Amino acid sequence: MSGTPVIGVLALQGDVREHVAALAAAGAQAVPVRRTRELDAVDGLVIPGGESTTMSRLADVFELREPIDKRIAGGMPVYGSCAGMIMLATEVLDGRPDQRGFDGISMTVRRNAFGRQVDSFEAPVTITGIAGEPFHAVFIRAPWVERVGEGVEVLGQVTDGPSAGRIVAVRQGNLLATSFHPELTGDVRLHRYFVDLVRAAA
Ligand code: GLN
Repeated sequence: MSGTPVIGVLALQGDVREHVAALAAAGAQAVPVRRTRELDAVDGLVIPGGESTTMSRLADVFELREPIDKRIAGGMPVYGSCAGMIMLATEVLDGRPDQRGFDGISMTVRRNAFGRQVDSFEAPVTITGIAGEPFHAVFIRAPWVERVGEGVEVLGQVTDGPSAGRIVAVRQGNLLATSFHPELTGDVRLHRYFVDLVRAAA
């Protein structure tokens, strides 16, 4: 693709505005997505942080579940942060029994995993494929990844403290997920990485 990619932010719930701003700063045209016809118009999709149980319910209310699964099957790039990571996981531990994600990344995530130790915290995280300083990663009632399936690449892990070794960034093909919220810190390198991925996929 030579022009500006159009990237949607799933706008059912969560920190939509922050992702729209970060995507714009990273060179994309960012639009909120709440309807099927809005989904049809995007080259890629971001699933924001927020509350995965609520997002799961609203995905059904807005009849977006099947259309999003279809776009994922068709190769549309998707990036999920925090609750968005949970929505992209094929298996969720400590979830609500009725919550359901999209047909996303072959991985098991544990909801509110760090929360047993602290509700929110910050830590430096290096992401494979992104040059420069480690990310100043902000975790808010964040999930971690307990198991990755075949074809899932681990891009980042916590390096220090009681959670050292925990997987917090993964990629499977055109699907990308982080436990933390780069949209909150003004560091748009991850969004730029995703914009590049969308460009390459188009
Ligand atoms: N704990 C939330 C959930 O289960 C995620 C928190 C977040 O996105 N900051 O969806």
